[in-house]
Amino acid sequence: MSYVILDLEWNGSYSKILNKFVNEIIEFGAIKVDEELNIIDTFSVLIAPKIGKKLCSKVKELTKITNEELMQDGIGFINALSMFSEFLGDDVLMTWSDSDLHALTENYSYYTGNVRLPFLKKYCNIQKYCENCLDLHDKSAQLGLSACADIVGITYSQEEQHRAFADAVLSLECLAHFKDSFSLSPFIVEADNAEFYNRLLFKNHFITNINSREIDRSQMNFDCNICGRQVSQTSKWRLHNKNFTADFYCEDCKKKFTGRVSFKKTFDRVIVKKRLNEKKDKQKDADKQSADSVEQN
Ligand SMILES: [Zn+2]
Repeated sequence: MSYVILDLEWNGSYSKILNKFVNEIIEFGAIKVDEELNIIDTFSVLIAPKIGKKLCSKVKELTKITNEELMQDGIGFINALSMFSEFLGDDVLMTWSDSDLHALTENYSYYTGNVRLPFLKKYCNIQKYCENCLDLHDKSAQLGLSACADIVGITYSQEEQHRAFADAVLSLECLAHFKDSFSLSPFIVEADNAEFYNRLLFKNHFITNINSREIDRSQMNFDCNICGRQVSQTSKWRLHNKNFTADFYCEDCKKKFTGRVSFKKTFDRVIVKKRLNEKKDKQKDADKQSADSVEQN
């Protein structure tokens, strides 16, 4: 089995047809490695953008790619994709985080109307693997590629990063750092099925309807920070910045609290975050003014 590590650069292009911004891919960089992670082959191609004509200044600054370069050396996306699919063959596709995969499906569906990448058979998210190796499990904070390199002590040139090929190399080095100590196979998933795309394209979101059946109401009770006994709720729930917020009172400690809880829906589960803060009176008015009232059933 061989692996192909892919990194993409893209430009925020406004599509008049779709009436929204598309992450238009402007560069592919990829490395093919064998099971021991020895480099077998490399792939690098620039893509002349069609959806947006000009690179936005942030992308120009970050990648140092110029409009002239893309016009001169860039090829069409579908052409580049067919070259890449030949390069990939039946190998496992690897990317750092699934955002490149998102961009790939977004661009592919722009041209073909289909999100499913016909050449993709097996996939591995290197970011997920590295997060697991480093024992990082905070779903709300993703590990950046250079952050990972910094943690494990891989040196890299700041100048060269944010180019597809250099980022693919750095992803490979991060992968290689853990490869002998942690099994990679649990992170290689079958990608040739509908569930893979349902999961990939699922949009995580906060549940803001308090009557949603996805909400576990027992999570809306709180224990006093001081004595540990359950506090009583003294107000209705309000929705404030995607958090349900209510006032609480501890009968034993005679203290007032504000309880906040949020429910984030992901493909697999609902992530609950909750916090109980002792109430300062100044906060009370501000809370009341900015909060929307939510009916409780
Ligand atoms: Zn108490």
